[in-house]
Amino acid sequence: TWAPNMKANKAAWEILSKGGYSLDAVEAGVMIPEADPNDVSVGYGGYPDRDGKVTLDSCIMNEKGQCGAVMAIEHIMHPIKVARLVMEKTPHVQLVGEGALQFALTEGFKKENLLTPESEKAWKEWLKTSKYDPMTIPKILEKTNQQEPYPWPVAALNHDTIGMIAMDVNGNISGACTTSGMAFKMRGRVGDSPIIGAGLFVDNEIGAASATGVGEEVVK
Ligand code: ASP
Repeated sequence: TWAPNMKANKAAWEILSKGGYSLDAVEAGVMIPEADPNDVSVGYGGYPDRDGKVTLDSCIMNEKGQCGAVMAIEHIMHPIKVARLVMEKTPHVQLVGEGALQFALTEGFKKENLLTPESEKAWKEWLKTSKYDPMTIPKILEKTNQQEPYPWPVAALNHDTIGMIAMDVNGNISGACTTSGMAFKMRGRVGDSPIIGAGLFVDNEIGAASATGVGEEVVK
C-alpha cells in the first residue's frame, strides 16, 4: 500500500494479532481510509462524480462465500459497514443508491456531507474542462492536491480504491473493497469495486484477490 494506509493495515492487524476474525479485521482496516478526509478516492473526502456528488461503492466477503455490497450510496461515511449488514441482515447481496441509503438509515447510520472543501475545489478545477480522461485527470488534480505530507503517487490521484484481504488464526480468509470510484465519473456509474467477482473475491480453499485500477477494464 501507499504510506498513509499503513494505518489501515495496523487497525486490521490489531484484531488479527489478538486472534480475532478476519472479517472484523478487514472491516476495521478499510474504515481508516473511509474516514480520512485526505484520502480522495475512498469514503469521506472522496472526489465526487461530475455532478459534484460523492457516491461510494463497497463490498465485503467472508470465508463461507457470504457477501454483501452497496453501490452508489451517498452520505454514509462507512459504506463497508453497510455492505456487511446487507450480508448479515438482508436476503440480498447488493443494494444500490437510494435503497442502500434507506437501509443504512434504518440501521442507525447518520447522513453526513462527504464532500470536503478540498475535493470540491478539485471538482471545480476539473469543471473548467469537464473532460473525463483518466490519463489527464491526475495532472489537473496535482494542482489542487492537498496531500502533503502524504506521498500519494500522482498517477493514483483520480482513483485509488482500498482492497484488503486477511487470513486469521483459524485460517479463514475475508476481504473488503471500498472506494469513491473514478473521480468525476458519470452520475450513477459503478465500477468493479463493489462487484463480487470483479473488485473482490474470496475462496477459502485457494485464496483471495482485490483489484484497483480503471473499473471498466477490471470488469472486462
Ligand atoms: N476500481 C475503481 C473504480 O473503477 C477505482 C480504483 O481502483 O481506484 O471505481
